[in-house]
Amino acid sequence: MSNKDVLVFEIEQAKGKPENIKHPDGYCPFCDTDHLVNIIDQKDDMIWLDNKFRTLQDTYQTVLIELSDHNGDISTYAQSKNRQVFEYIYQCWNQMIKSGKYTSVLMYKNVGPLSGGSLKHPHFQIIGLEKVNGYKHVEAENFTGMEVYQDDEIELNISEKPIMGFVEFNIVITDPKKIDKLADFVQTTVQYTLDDFYGGKFDSYNIFFYKEYSKIICKVVPRYVVSPYFVGYRLSQRDGDKQVSGIRDVLREKLNSNGMLD
Ligand SMILES: [Zn+2]
Repeated sequence: MSNKDVLVFEIEQAKGKPENIKHPDGYCPFCDTDHLVNIIDQKDDMIWLDNKFRTLQDTYQTVLIELSDHNGDISTYAQSKNRQVFEYIYQCWNQMIKSGKYTSVLMYKNVGPLSGGSLKHPHFQIIGLEKVNGYKHVEAENFTGMEVYQDDEIELNISEKPIMGFVEFNIVITDPKKIDKLADFVQTTVQYTLDDFYGGKFDSYNIFFYKEYSKIICKVVPRYVVSPYFVGYRLSQRDGDKQVSGIRDVLREKLNSNGMLD
């Protein structure tokens, strides 16, 4: 493995970085919009700006604040608001990709104490990597698996070969014009993750975006303590087939009751 595969963390830059996921009363820079600097673009209450705390070498780190409500979450947004967020983040991500300045551009979000995030206020991260191909270790087979739902426009499946494990939901569209539909399916999957998955014991998740030829893929990952099989051996685990079919059935029912399978 060459140095090109590794992101270098700079601790000096992280000093003074606000954190309020573990300390809910802590200061929130995203609520304090009057003091935001280096804003790249904004639309209604969505604000895209430079990340003040650039902790990674050779990267351009940006954040996109989804709305003014500190306690909002994709799972509780009105459908129209959620669609707005997805349309906007996709546009911003695409803009950075098309700039041609980066080897790769990552877009993801962290929600909850086990997700790796430090700020509760709903936001996405869009990060340009100057030297590293962030997609190098990700393969097409990380996005396929047991079908939950599929039609001409969208596919939702549960990874047969997750990147880390153990349950990863993949929502795939091939036409960027269907981003609203992607938003709806991701929203229901997040609701399922927080309300139903393992009896609602999960309070943390990540969403990752990928582009693969004409495909736009969202991976929703319920987060728990990372398995030592992954930490020590990079072995990913997945749930057994019986368990996965149970998850599929309940998620499908939820999509249906949210009116998504008409
Ligand atoms: Zn806030």
